[in-house]
Amino acid sequence: MEEHYILKNIENILKEIPDYVHLIAVAKGRSLKEIELCIEGGIKILGINYVQQGEKIYPFLKDKADFHLIGHLQTNKIKKALNIFNMIQTIDSIETVKEIQNRLKSEDRKMPILIEVNIANEKNKFGVPPENLFDFFSEISKFDKILIMGLMTIGPNTNDENIIRKYFKKTYNLYNQLRNYKSANVNFKYLSMGMSDSYKIAIDEGSNMIRIGRKIFLEQN
Ligand SMILES: *Cc1c(COP(=O)(O)O)cnc(C)c1O
Repeated sequence: MEEHYILKNIENILKEIPDYVHLIAVAKGRSLKEIELCIEGGIKILGINYVQQGEKIYPFLKDKADFHLIGHLQTNKIKKALNIFNMIQTIDSIETVKEIQNRLKSEDRKMPILIEVNIANEKNKFGVPPENLFDFFSEISKFDKILIMGLMTIGPNTNDENIIRKYFKKTYNLYNQLRNYKSANVNFKYLSMGMSDSYKIAIDEGSNMIRIGRKIFLEQN
């Protein structure tokens, strides 16, 4: 029998990316069956956009993969999110951090997070504007129930590779400036950047965590 295209897709991506790059399979809109297949293909991290989807598949897959939240986190979903996700990649507000702090105050653990950066200052996009990043970072690094592990960006909404590259460079530059900061609540080591159409550029520009949906779950020709 011929190998399923999801397995083939993952094989092909793994072949072309360096070992240090973490490959996240973005599960939005995919069935449990498709997601199970991608785990069979070697995926160890699932990227989840909605807490609700996470909740639905978590009981079946919690021992088989890590769950990373890559969509916006609403305040009323924080409690649930803390019980499902190994990492929240979309932190962009102090209120969310305060709520996490409050929810975890009696627990002996920290929630690993990435700060989402709205690197091209796009309207209607979540994320901290780059000019506010250092202030935001220093403010949230005081909270001991989070562990700040790096930056995440979606990148600008364009097909122009030069523009994409320019903003990925800019994000890497910010990442690099924060990378050597050491504290109990900071262990900066992930730059989550690059999707199906942009991951090669992203890796070129310093990404070590890519979030791939279509190129894993759709048949390639
Ligand atoms: C959908 C999505 C991706 C993956 O996009 P593809 O183009 O399907 O690879 C990555 N990151 C986020 C935040 C997404 O919402």
